[in-house]
Order: sequence, then structure tokens, then C-alpha cells
Amino acid sequence: MSMQPAAVAYRSPSSLSAGLRCRCPRCGEGRLFAGYLTLAKSCEACGLDFGFADPADGPAFFVMSGVSLLVVAVWGWTAVAFQPPIWLQLATALPAMVAGCLVCLRPVKAWLVAEQFVHKAGEGEWESLGRHGVGGFTFDRRAAAVENLTPAEWDAAAGRDKAA
Ligand SMILES: [Zn+2]
Repeated sequence: MSMQPAAVAYRSPSSLSAGLRCRCPRCGEGRLFAGYLTLAKSCEACGLDFGFADPADGPAFFVMSGVSLLVVAVWGWTAVAFQPPIWLQLATALPAMVAGCLVCLRPVKAWLVAEQFVHKAGEGEWESLGRHGVGGFTFDRRAAAVENLTPAEWDAAAGRDKAA
């Protein structure tokens, strides 16, 4: 029996493949979900912490838009081509929409989580300097915080001499 190496090279699946199979985006083995749409805490195979994953309402939006466009297109075409009674149209189109959304939500959510993993996406975080008007767009904001310049010193350092 060999020791587990400290650094493991993962043969990560494509995000689409991980998504369609609802698997961990790093190893492609562990299950992503603990429930229907509830993410597991971490990967059971490679231990990846799924805490980074938060696609919010992205999956719902994409699935709702995609499925309803598709269903309405097919519905419209059959309504014109075959003119079925309205009760039959409603009895097929509405369940098709609900079923289509329920089937697609899991893989789409898993796919978006895999994309987040690949692109290391996260909440935007803004560094505050604690006052307005300093640390503008032309200078390194972190340098401004460290040097703690006054607005006048800042203008001078940035070459924005008011006298000029
Ligand atoms: Zn994994």
C-alpha cells in the first residue's frame, strides 16, 4: 500500500462534463449534491470544500428562460400545425415546463458551480481607503493606503498639480 502523496494532480473533468454528471469539479468523482439542490459540504472523493460555490439564482434564471423558450416554441408550432383543443395544449405544455425545469436545474447548477471553480469566481470585494477622493484610478490604491497621503500630497504624487 502506497502513501497518499501530499500534492495530488487531478484529472479535472470539463465543467460541462462535471455539470451534466453532477460531480465534483476538481476530481470528477465525488457527488456535488447532498439533496435535490443542496450542495454537499465537501467532495467525498478529494475533499474539495464546496464553500466557494454560490451560483445564487443563476441556475433558476437560465433554466426558466431556456425551458420556457423551448416549450413555448414547440407549443406554438404544434398549436398552429395541428390545432389541438386548448385543454390538450395546456395539459401538455404546462407539465412540460415544470418537468423541464425540474430535470434541468441540477445539471445547470452543477455546471455553474464547476464554472465558478474553474474561473475562481467570487463576490466582488472592494478595498476601502477610509476616505473619499483619494486612491483614484491612476495609482495603486494599496500604495495610497500604506503611504497615507493627504489629498493634496496625493494630487502632487499623481502628477495632478493644480497650479499647472
Ligand atoms: Zn472531488
